[in-house]
Parts: sequence; structure tokens; C-alpha cells
Amino acid sequence: MKGNKPVVAVVGATGAVGKEMLLILESRDFPVAQVRAFASERSVGEKVPFQGGEIVVEALTEDSFEGIDLALFSAGKDTSEKFTPCAVKAGCVVIDNSNAWRMDTSVPLVVPEVNPDDLKWHRGVIANPNCSTIQMVAVLKPLHDAATIQRIVISTYQAVSESGQKGISELESQILHLMNGQDADTHVYPHQIAFNCLPHIDSFLDNDYTKEEMRMVKETRKILGDDSLRITATACRVPVFYGQSESVNIETAKKLTPKEARAILCQTPGVEVFDNPHENIYPMPFAAVGEDSIFVGRIREDESIERGLNLWIVADNIRKGAALNAVQIAEKVLEMDLLRVS
Ligand code: NAP
Repeated sequence: MKGNKPVVAVVGATGAVGKEMLLILESRDFPVAQVRAFASERSVGEKVPFQGGEIVVEALTEDSFEGIDLALFSAGKDTSEKFTPCAVKAGCVVIDNSNAWRMDTSVPLVVPEVNPDDLKWHRGVIANPNCSTIQMVAVLKPLHDAATIQRIVISTYQAVSESGQKGISELESQILHLMNGQDADTHVYPHQIAFNCLPHIDSFLDNDYTKEEMRMVKETRKILGDDSLRITATACRVPVFYGQSESVNIETAKKLTPKEARAILCQTPGVEVFDNPHENIYPMPFAAVGEDSIFVGRIREDESIERGLNLWIVADNIRKGAALNAVQIAEKVLEMDLLRVS
């Protein structure tokens, strides 16, 4: 700490999430003594903008964390697995965006609006949930408190930016090639993503679900602290650059009308209700880009069961789904005086 302000590292500072983290730290006036930017050897010497100046990107090594109080990691699972222990050993608190530590029972998995108290038991590492999980649990938590959710059925419509810069480039180049009458090369996804939908995110498991689908199941139970929740998910990649959409069906123990659900969600921090279908008002990824809020609409009764609701939930996967949630965790850590490794 320098003058009561932390020295902050952004690991993966040249990536889609890392760049957004720098913008968010700046725009939210996060207190920093200094920000250092790390990426792979490929980016050493590149400059990233911050607070009107530029930060020179450094290569990440095991010795990088001396003098750093807080590190925001968004450089993939392998980098997190390799370097998080070095960071913690150097006394640095890590907020990690990858899926390296999310299901580790000694690591809190946090959405600040949902389970901030879990930060109290961190031992140096705090995990940021998967983007699809973050936007869903922030909406479901107040409904769970009001009516006890028993079952959740999820279908996602996930943007290519969730795969990082390479996902964005793949969709861009496929659209360009196809519009010019050329073949579309496929490198990132198993099939063409332009003008297509792939019910396939991450690899398939023995139960025929994908890892992404099972992440939503397990992470939701961990964040809501309820292992009895019955959850099933289908995760689909769609040719959208930014913004994650989800159709979510819930079955509750207590009856909750759409009107009651809307009233609860109107009072929920970080959530905005966009729900006037007769005026064509509902959340869309296009409109959520660059926004901090999670948008919910199409709230209606599931007429096929006694106590069920359907919801449509949309958020910017790079902001609330990743960078913003990580910075909000950091803000809570400071507010709760938890910037220490125990
Ligand atoms: P990205 O655009 O591909 O960026 C990856 C970043 O990691 C780059 O800065 C890259 O540096 C750096 N990196 C790669 N290997 C490294 C190494 N060995 N040492 C140090 N830095 C290394 O990916 P992204 O979308 O920002 O995602 C980053 C992480 O956030 C992933 O774990 C992802 O799962 C997670 N996440 C992403 C989203 C999303 O919507 N995109 C949402 C939630 C979580 P170079 O530029 O030098 O290669």
C-alpha cells in the first residue's frame, strides 16, 4: 500500500476483459497508488491507456507480485493456476476471472449484490463466477428469498466475445468472407458461427452436458448456498458480438405472480426491469452493451405448472459478466477491510 491506496495489477491487460477492467477502474475512480499491466511475452512493451496516460505492459513472471496488493486476473485458467499461488505467497489478494478456482471450497465465489459476506472467509483468492451465472443469480437471488426457488431451467444465447478477442475475430472474418462469396474458415469453434447457432460451449462431459452448462449448475448452487436446487441448462453460442441473453424458467415453493416478481426486481440493486412487451420493450444484447445493469423482462407465468415464472435476462458479458463484477468485488474488499492474505 502506498498512502493507504493499493498497488493494483491487471493480469491479462491486453485482453477483452483486461482492457475493460482498466476502463472500469478509471471510470469508477477506484483508489489506486499505481496500476501495473501484465500479459504474455507477446505483448511486452505494448502500452495500454489509463487515466489519461499509458501503462507499459510487462511480462508475467513468478516474481511479478512483489509490492502488489491486489491482482485482477483475466488471462485464462492455465495462467491463473500457475501464477495465483505466487501472488498469494507475495501477500497479494487475487480476484480471478477464470474457472481455475471457482469450485474450490476454500475460495469464495462472489457476486457483490448477492453474497458479499462470503468475502469474509477469503484466504487470498476470490473467484469471479462465469458471466452467464453472474447475470442469472443477481436476478434470481431476491426471487429465491421471496418464494424459494426449487427448480431452474436455463437456455443461454452467448456472445462470441465470451471467447475473448479470438472469438470476435472469428465472427468478423467469417461474416466478411461469406458476404464476399468466399468460404468461411473455422478456427475457434467446431462449426461456422456466422449466421448459425452452436449448442456447444466448452467441451462435452460424460453426461452429454457441456462444461459450461455444468458450471452454471454448480456455481449457482455455490453462490446461492443451496445444494438442493434442481438446475438444468443448455448453453448456446450465437452470432452476436457482445451481450449474453438467457431464457430462465423457475419453479418456486411459494406462488409468485409476475407482478410481484416485477415489483421485487424493480427494487433489486444492479437490476433493471425492461418489461412492456406490448410496446416492444424487452432486454436485448444490442442495448445492454456498455451498460452496468443486468436487464430482465418477458416476466410471465409458466402456465404449464402451478408455481412457475419465465424470465429473459440480458447483460454485457465483458462488463457485469467479468470486468465490472471483479472491480465491484475489489471495492467490497476495500470497504470491508479485507485486503489481506490470511
Ligand atoms: P482474451 O481477449 O483472449 O485475453 C487474454 C489475456 O490473457 C491477454 O491479455 C493475454 O495476453 C493474456 N495471457 C494469455 N496467456 C498469458 C500468459 N501465459 N501470461 C500472461 N498473460 C497471458 O480473453 P478474455 O476474454 O479477456 O478472457 C480472459 C479470462 O477472463 C478468461 O479466463 C475468460 O474465461 C475469463 N472471462 C471472460 C469473459 C468474457 O466474456 N470474455 C467473461 C468471464 C470470464 P496477450 O495479449 O499477450 O496474449
